[in-house]
Formats: sequence, C-alpha cells, structure tokens
Amino acid sequence: MSSLAVVGTVYQAPTAEALEVLPDVVVSVDAVGSITSVVPAGSPEGDVAVASAAQVHRLSPSQRLLPGLVDLHIHAPQWPQLGTGLDLPLERWLFEYTFPLEARYADLGFAREVWAHMVPTLLAHGTTTAVYFATVHEPATSALAEQCVRSGQRAFVGRVAMDLDVPDWYCDASAAEGVAASRRSVDDIRALGSPLVQPIITPRFVPACSDELLRGLGQLAAETGALVQTHCSESVWEHGAVLERYGHSDTTALSTMGLLREGTVLAHGNHLGSDDLPLIRAAGAGVAHCPLSNTYFANGVFPTRRVLDAGVRVGLGTDIAGGAEPGLLHQCALAIDVSRSVADIDAVTAFHLGTVGGAGVLGLPVGVLAPGFQFDAIVVDTAGSALRAWDGIDDHARVFEKIVRLARPVDVVDVWVAGTRVAGTRQ
Ligand SMILES: [Zn+2]
Repeated sequence: MSSLAVVGTVYQAPTAEALEVLPDVVVSVDAVGSITSVVPAGSPEGDVAVASAAQVHRLSPSQRLLPGLVDLHIHAPQWPQLGTGLDLPLERWLFEYTFPLEARYADLGFAREVWAHMVPTLLAHGTTTAVYFATVHEPATSALAEQCVRSGQRAFVGRVAMDLDVPDWYCDASAAEGVAASRRSVDDIRALGSPLVQPIITPRFVPACSDELLRGLGQLAAETGALVQTHCSESVWEHGAVLERYGHSDTTALSTMGLLREGTVLAHGNHLGSDDLPLIRAAGAGVAHCPLSNTYFANGVFPTRRVLDAGVRVGLGTDIAGGAEPGLLHQCALAIDVSRSVADIDAVTAFHLGTVGGAGVLGLPVGVLAPGFQFDAIVVDTAGSALRAWDGIDDHARVFEKIVRLARPVDVVDVWVAGTRVAGTRQ
C-alpha cells in the first residue's frame, strides 16, 4: 500500500530535447518518499493504485504536476539584500555590501530569524532542493541545516572557508583553522541524521583562499566524501586574478588542489575555456549557470549550448543575492532569454537544466517523476494570474512554456519533498 497517490497530468523534461506529457496519470509514493509507479488513471492498474493509497490527491483540470526545482547556487546570508546593491562590480560589491552583511551572522539569533524566513519562502517558489553557501560561522551554518530539516527542504549546506585577501573581521584565522572548522561543520550537519540535508565543503573562491586552505579542503573532501562547491571563472576580474596567481584557470587550480571531484558544483563558469571543459567532464563535476547574476557580474554570457555539447553537466542557480530574484523557475526563463545572444535554448532545455540538470550534478534521484525517483514535485495552477491557459488556443507545449515563463508562488499550489507536502497556496 502506498502512502500517497497523486492523480493528474505531468509535465517534465527527462531530456533536454523534448517535453514529456503524461496526461492524467496516478503517481504512487511510498512511506519514504520514493515513487513506486506512474500509471494511467482510469486503467485497471490506476484504479488499484488509487484504491490502495492511504491518501489520494486529485489535481483540478487547470493544474499540472511537475518535478520540483533544484537551485544549485544560493548565498543564504545575502537574503536580506535580495533586490538591492547591484550597482557595483563584483570585487567592490563583496567588500562594500556583502562581507559586512555576512559578518552579522556571528549573531545566531539574527541568523535564525533570516533562515526561518528564507527557507519557507524558497519552498513556496517550488525550490525543493537548495545548495547553500552559509557563512564562516559554524553555529549559523548548523542553524541553516536545522531550518532545512524543520521546513522539509532537501539541501546541501556549506560553511564558507576563506583566509586570503578578505576582511580580518570576516575570515578564517588561518588555513588550518579554516579546515578544522569546515570538518566540524561537516560532522555537525551529518549528526542531524536527516536523509534530506547534507554538508558541502565550501571554499568561497580561489582568490579568497590560500593554497594551504584549498589543499586542506581538497583533502577533507577526499576523507569525508562530502561534495564541494565554489565559484569558478565567474568574472573577468576573478578569472584574471587566478590566471595571474597560477598561470592557469580556476578549473586547473581546483583540480590540482583536489577540489574538482564527482559532484563538485562550479558556480557561473562564464569564462571557462575549451581546455577546462574536458577536465570538468572527466571529474564528474558540473556547472551552476546563474543567468540573472551573470547579467550583472560576469562580463560575459554563459555559453550553455557549448558547455552541454562538451558533455558537461549543467544546472541552474539563482545566486541569491547577486541574482535579485528568488525563484528558480524564473531563472529558467532568464536562461532562455540570455541564451538568445549566443546559441538559443528553449523552455524544455531550460526546465531540464533546472530539474534533471541540477539533480545530475548533485547525484540526487530527483528531477523526474518516475519509479525509483524521490517524489519532489510541485503543482502549478493555470487558471489564474498572468499564467492562464486558454481553451482551444493553448496546447500542452504552450501551457508548459507559460508555466516556465510566468508561474509565480501564487500559482504554486502544492510543493512536496520526499512525499511530504511542505508548501503551496492550497488551503
Ligand atoms: Zn555566488
């Protein structure tokens, strides 16, 4: 007997090439949130699936069931500056706006207040998996992981490590201390024992880390098996600083330090060269494409099509708060828009990146509603707001495109993570 059966029409993008429409199906979910079957409603199997479920939820004709969104790049402490401070280039934005705000998370009470607002808000946008940079503070980092557990969001939470050319009031005291604190943070988050929330090793970016710190964190990743996230070839300034220091790119530097590993999340990658892509692919790492923040900070457009064609895994990120928009679905639309100046991608490819793409980078069984995958899903209603499907005009492909471009939290009526409903406007 399944614990939940959801009956309705599914839209998803298992491949980047084609929209998959499953009209009127029954999705059965077991007690640990795994999808056990997807069968046509009204068929003999469908009737059995509905009859044997502890709880049945039927979508209305205007509603669609989609996989939840995977946001590969969020700076959690920057939540209070979302929508502001985008007038400076990256190297000034960090020192004048961002580091002073992040330093405030030494105050655990403040940290808890921000996390308690941010995590449910992101869930309401349909972000069922989030990959977070926290701060250098261990208590604030652990509190973020605890909030994700409490709110039921699937998450990777990383304590930020940095010890070079950063303010002495917001940094690791030494490379050794940065590695030790990162190790304690990994242990703390694992001690929560949550199947949803995991630690991730987080050197901020190469210019903010000494060689000793980078090497120590690479070793920590090998010892603990925790994933790694960092920034990579983001802006002309950042990319240039690494070239000047080593004579080679971020990708090579990270590889040398043991940080380019299976599941490593490389944020941005706007200035990745043709030598970098085979290294990333061979390591099994992936790129978090952050279309909105790149518009402000990258001095370039991420070549999505070229990177995908090179066989590199790509997902999407909001880059809160360098990206001034909290919804990952909205980043799908922006990924389409910015791609117009290089090689076009369409709504299906963008949604594929925002679901399957991100899941692939992280190695998570989410992003598709199929047997064996976790039931991380959202329901979008197409009856109201600007997102309105018109009978006789909008076929499935058009309704899907409208959802990608126009859906806002008001349209997201249900959000499930691992089979548990965690957000949504439905009363
Ligand atoms: Zn970032």
